[in-house]
Amino acid sequence: MKSVKARVLLAVCMAVLGILAAAAAAFAAGPNIGVLIYKYDDTYISTVRNALNKALDGKAEITMQDGKGDQATQNDQLDVMIAKGMDGIIVNMVDAQAAAGVVEKIKATGTPVVFFNREPDLNVLKTYDKAVFVGTNAADAGRMQGDIIKQLWDSNPAFDLNKDGQFQYVMFKGEPDNPEAIARTEFSVKQAEANGIKMAQIGETFVCNWDTAQAQTAMESALAANEGKIELVIANNDSMAMGAIAALSNIGYNLEGGSKLIPVIGVDATDQAIDAISKGIMSATVKQDGEAMGNAVAAIMLNMVAGKTPLDGTQYAYDDSGIAVRIPYSPYTK
Ligand code: CA
Repeated sequence: MKSVKARVLLAVCMAVLGILAAAAAAFAAGPNIGVLIYKYDDTYISTVRNALNKALDGKAEITMQDGKGDQATQNDQLDVMIAKGMDGIIVNMVDAQAAAGVVEKIKATGTPVVFFNREPDLNVLKTYDKAVFVGTNAADAGRMQGDIIKQLWDSNPAFDLNKDGQFQYVMFKGEPDNPEAIARTEFSVKQAEANGIKMAQIGETFVCNWDTAQAQTAMESALAANEGKIELVIANNDSMAMGAIAALSNIGYNLEGGSKLIPVIGVDATDQAIDAISKGIMSATVKQDGEAMGNAVAAIMLNMVAGKTPLDGTQYAYDDSGIAVRIPYSPYTK
């Protein structure tokens, strides 16, 4: 039977070993970084998450939470992270309008924070000197579509069905008041025109809520009224582009190996769009580079938790706001 003294000694030894082990683990794992994601069930955000995990692997201990598309849930997850005392926090807002409360809570702890993707009012972020935003520039996706339109026009004179020197197009818009939708709609056409293409819209702009089925219905109506007059389809996203292609293929256009093709351009580079482009039934899309975004968020966060300036030693630069980094889109064609 062990004496009380021996038991106490053993306990002390184990406690000391435990502390040493914990210290070694903390040293090996690096800073604790909390990551709040608006929802895991989002194809694009999954790409960013994977890149983040990869970029932080071995450099930080990551705690990642799924906000499941609910801001109240995300607020609770933030409270837990703050209670645990994270060295840095990365936030992908569920509701960008709710950022003021999030900034206020994190600011009170002095923890550096990087917001990404869903863009809060940058004036809210500017109230905290340890807050940075990493996003894209919505207008760039439109401009890239405009450059693709120029390439398409130059690549095949047959696209000008009525030979009038103008590109007759239909436009599919995501939502009426969404800033991304507005910018993509406006700048795609403006950029094509700046590239010297004469653009002529057929019908009104179809607002289809980013949705394939709604876009298919709208395209069917457009084709019923204007078959043979539509020379180009521009969509704010690939889901709507797929709807337009479904309507076209139902009446013999844009079939794999077929002879009649109306060029269709989207945004996102979804798997479906990439597949359609490989089959030659869709012309192009614009890719949001999730991997580049994840890498940028990771690099900036690691700098901040190390007490360096956010962009120290990186290739990134702030936009005019002085606190936001914009990851460029890239065109995707066959
Ligand atoms: Ca024409």
